[in-house]
Amino acid sequence: MTGALAHDAHLAPCAALEATSRGRRHPEAPAGYRGEFQRDRDRIVHCNAFRRLVYKTQVFVNHEGDLFRTRLTHSLEVAQIARTVARTLALSEPLTEAICLAHDLGHTPFGHAGQDALNECMRDYGGFEHNLQSLRVVDELEERYAAFQGLNLTFETREGILKHCSLANARRLGDVGRRFIERRQPGLEAQLANLADAIAYNNHDVDDGLRAGLISVEELNEVTIFRRHHDAVRALFPSIGPRRLVHETIRRMINDVVTDLIEETRRRLEAAMPASIDEVRAQDGPLVAFSATSAEEHYELKRFLRRRVYEHERVTGMREGAVRTLRELFHAFLADLALMPAEHRDNALRLEAELGAAGRARAVADYVAGMTDRYAFLEHERVFRPAPGTSC
Ligand code: MG
Repeated sequence: MTGALAHDAHLAPCAALEATSRGRRHPEAPAGYRGEFQRDRDRIVHCNAFRRLVYKTQVFVNHEGDLFRTRLTHSLEVAQIARTVARTLALSEPLTEAICLAHDLGHTPFGHAGQDALNECMRDYGGFEHNLQSLRVVDELEERYAAFQGLNLTFETREGILKHCSLANARRLGDVGRRFIERRQPGLEAQLANLADAIAYNNHDVDDGLRAGLISVEELNEVTIFRRHHDAVRALFPSIGPRRLVHETIRRMINDVVTDLIEETRRRLEAAMPASIDEVRAQDGPLVAFSATSAEEHYELKRFLRRRVYEHERVTGMREGAVRTLRELFHAFLADLALMPAEHRDNALRLEAELGAAGRARAVADYVAGMTDRYAFLEHERVFRPAPGTSC
C-alpha cells in the first residue's frame, strides 16, 4: 500500500481521508514517507507564529508565574486531548493535531483583552478577529517557502482553523469561507478540535485559577462536575493532600467529559451514518458533541470561570494596561509607518497601495497581533520612551 491509501488505512470512511483531500492552494509533489496532514502539522510546528505562542498570554500574563498556561502549553493540551479522541473514533490524528496546534496562531498578545483592543482599533478597517488571523498567518504571513506565501496547508487544515467568521469575510475568503454561506459543517477533525479547545481551557483554568488564588476549592464546590469528582476522590482517599486532591479531581473531570464526548459522538455517527467527509459537511449540525447533561455541566463550569476568574479584578486589572499598550502602539504605527521595522513598513506601503487605508491598517494590525506580550511591552517602551534630554 502506498501514498494516500497507506495514510488512510484504519480510518473511518467519514474521516478526512488523504485520498479525497481538496488539496493545497499551490499544488506540491507528495512528501514521500509523510502523509499530507502530517506535513501540515510539521509546517505548523516549524513556523515562527507557533514559537511565539510560548510568550503569549492565555489568561495569566506569562511573567506572573512559570506554571501558568501560555498559548503554547494550551495548544499542546488541546492537541493531546483531541488526538486521543481522534484515534478512538478512527479519525485522522495528524489532521486533528495540525488543527489544534494552529488554532491560536493568530492570537494577539495579552489574551482576549488584546484581541478586543485590536478589534476596536481596526473598527473602521474591517475589524480584527483572532480566528481569522490564525488563517491569515498560515495563508499569508509566514515566509518560509520559496514558491509561495504562507505555509500552503491543505484545505482540510485551513477549514479546521477557521472556526467561525462573518458572512462578509466568508465571501472574501473563497473556498474555505463557503461553508459559512452555505451553512455547512466542517469535517469531524475540525469539530473535534473545537470541543477539545473548550475541554482544555475549562479544566486548565480551574487549575490556574486555584494556583493564582483567584478561586478556592470551596467556591468550586458550587460547580456540579467539580463537586462530583472532588467528593469521589475524598471518599476514596480520605487522607489525600490538597494539591493531589485538586489534580486528581481535574484529571477525572477531563476523563469524564472526554468519555462523554466519545460516546455521544459515536451515537450521533451511528444514527447519521455519514459515508464520507462530504456527508459530514452536509449534516444540519455537528456530529462531534457532548451529551445534553455533559454540555450543561460544561457550561456551568464555563459560567463559573467567567465570573470568578476571567472577570476577576486581578485579571481585568492586567487587561487595562494591556489594552492601553496595544492601542497606543497601533495608533503610533498607523500614523508613522517608519516607527515599525523596515519589513513591516514595506508591507504597510504595499497593502496601502493595493487596498488604501484599510490595507495600511491591516499591515499594522498584522505586526501588532504577531507580538508576544513581552515584545509588545518592549516596543511600547521604544516608541514612547522620551528622547534623552527632553524630560524635565
Ligand atoms: Mg484555544
